[in-house]
Amino acid sequence: KDTIDKIAAGEVVERPASVVKELLENAIDAGATVITVEIKEGGISLIRVTDNGSGIDKSEVPKAFLRHATSKINTVEDLLHIVSLGFRGEALSSIAAVSKLELITKTKNELTGIRYSIEGGLEKEAEEVGAPDGTTILVRNLFFNTPVRKKFLKQPQTEGGYVSDLMEHMAMSNPGVSFKYINNGQTRFYTSGNGNLQEIIYRIYGKDISSSLIPVDISESGIHMSGFIGKPEINRANRSFEIYFVNGRFIKSGIIGKAIEEGYKKYVMQHKFPFVVLHLQIDSQEMDVNVHPTKMEVRFTNQMKLYDFISEHITKSLHETEL
Ligand code: ADP
Ligand code: MG
Repeated sequence: KDTIDKIAAGEVVERPASVVKELLENAIDAGATVITVEIKEGGISLIRVTDNGSGIDKSEVPKAFLRHATSKINTVEDLLHIVSLGFRGEALSSIAAVSKLELITKTKNELTGIRYSIEGGLEKEAEEVGAPDGTTILVRNLFFNTPVRKKFLKQPQTEGGYVSDLMEHMAMSNPGVSFKYINNGQTRFYTSGNGNLQEIIYRIYGKDISSSLIPVDISESGIHMSGFIGKPEINRANRSFEIYFVNGRFIKSGIIGKAIEEGYKKYVMQHKFPFVVLHLQIDSQEMDVNVHPTKMEVRFTNQMKLYDFISEHITKSLHETEL
């Protein structure tokens, strides 16, 4: 069983950033509006996620760490219509199998909470404690019992960079949630959760970028595009600032990336890597989503339509703005 859990863990838990992603999705699923993430040494020695969500009933805590334990799917129907962010109740058990994990949680209906610790998949301790409503999960010494996997990790700074990218994307795709992100004791950014995307961009990227943005908000034949495109003067050195979300999910797509660059190129007459943060809402019939635990592939039914829509409206928005 131990071995099976460790192998299964490989599916979900590739690196600190994938742990943080799972924990954040759980927090959001639990209705959290305030989430703090702290990491140390790139998340290898410590990941802490604190949320003010529903919490977990004391009696349910050990169950949450069983493989395929999920409170989100009750029937086969649910499985077919799975829309919640988590997937198939594998995250907590997989993370617990390869780390020293501590969970402190309390629901609104209970007077006290529980502190529960589990190391390498083995329950260590469970005690009643006073705690605020919500959940804190501490993940220490990731891969302490799987040295080969640990060796496969990059330097803490690189792993921390992946976590930072993820945090930025999560903050921009959930503007209604307040995030605080602390890396090696330093607060990297804080968002208020007031829903204002431009303010989030300001918090993450600073004033130079946030004051050079053109808002877009366009709907046409099943596609809605909103967000901000940077003025050409804030063009970046690479593609990592072409940030877009499809139906709330951060993705990388060759088609969308090319369309964005083409939209700029028609305006500035030069190939550049722009800064954009765009939310695309696309009818689910218009795409084929293949969700794998660690990757997400999206294929669009009508690629040309999507491409033209994005590039034309970017060019148009640039032309319409006094630059
Ligand atoms: P899944 O998210 O697919 O259900 P997980 O292993 O990620 O599976 O989580 C198992 C269960 O633990 C969830 O279904 C949920 O009931 C509970 N849970 C996990 N994290 C939280 C949290 N932050 N707040 C409340 N409940 C949580
Ligand atoms: Mg989950």
